[in-house]
Amino acid sequence: MSLLTVERLEARHGLLQAVRGVDLALGAGETLALVGANGAGKTTLLRAIAGAHRASAGRIRFDGADITALPAHRRLKRGIALVPEGRRLFTGMTVEENLLVAAGRGRAGRWTLATVLEAFPQLRPKLKARAGDLSGGQQQATAIARALMSNPRLLLLDEVSLGLSPAAVEQLYLSLRALPATETAIVLVEQDLGRALAAANRVVCLLEGRITYEGAAAETTRERVMAAYFGMAGGR
Ligand code: ATP
Repeated sequence: MSLLTVERLEARHGLLQAVRGVDLALGAGETLALVGANGAGKTTLLRAIAGAHRASAGRIRFDGADITALPAHRRLKRGIALVPEGRRLFTGMTVEENLLVAAGRGRAGRWTLATVLEAFPQLRPKLKARAGDLSGGQQQATAIARALMSNPRLLLLDEVSLGLSPAAVEQLYLSLRALPATETAIVLVEQDLGRALAAANRVVCLLEGRITYEGAAAETTRERVMAAYFGMAGGR
């Protein structure tokens, strides 16, 4: 059975329909890359799954239950954590405080301060530093580590490599690679197509709120995705 099922989901910003009839299914431990041009609806779809944006139609099921009407904090309790674009850390608080704040908001599980520091060792010497004083890569690591502290079964990552140095991106993806072994499912919005294909089992391309391509990452070529990206290929 799928961990996450999205059925004919629609989401709007006022009159603008940003997500149009999206169907998705994701199993435990799977990594799905969500790609598409600016404005394709990726962020809105992630936020709708997390409960940060209300769906205007359709259903979201998680672990067998219909969660469409649940607010974000109740979805977090069930194991859906979002790392939003722009990180949204408490910049005046230390890294440790940022991590500990999240601990009580989700579920109990294997992720504790000790285990997230094993996954993100670059944060260990920064625990007492103000989050606002960290480099972009360290802030992004803190944001992902904070989400892990809620022991998610589904981690939604919105453009985590945006604005980071190549070395920082490399280090982040190295840490992310270990997560599927913990059965955590991941939906990854990533502009770098090569990286998205390398990190994911499955790829979905959105264009103007609709899925224009879906396939196994191993069978997906850059050309095929780029065609779907710009609407040059037929449907799924
Ligand atoms: P990006 O890569 O630029 O973040 P995206 O694929 O994540 O793009 P969304 O941010 O979900 O796309 O935007 C989908 C559509 O909804 C776009 O047309 C965008 O302009 C519009 N939109 C997004 N946020 C808002 C908002 N707060 N108010 C009005 N329209 C919005």
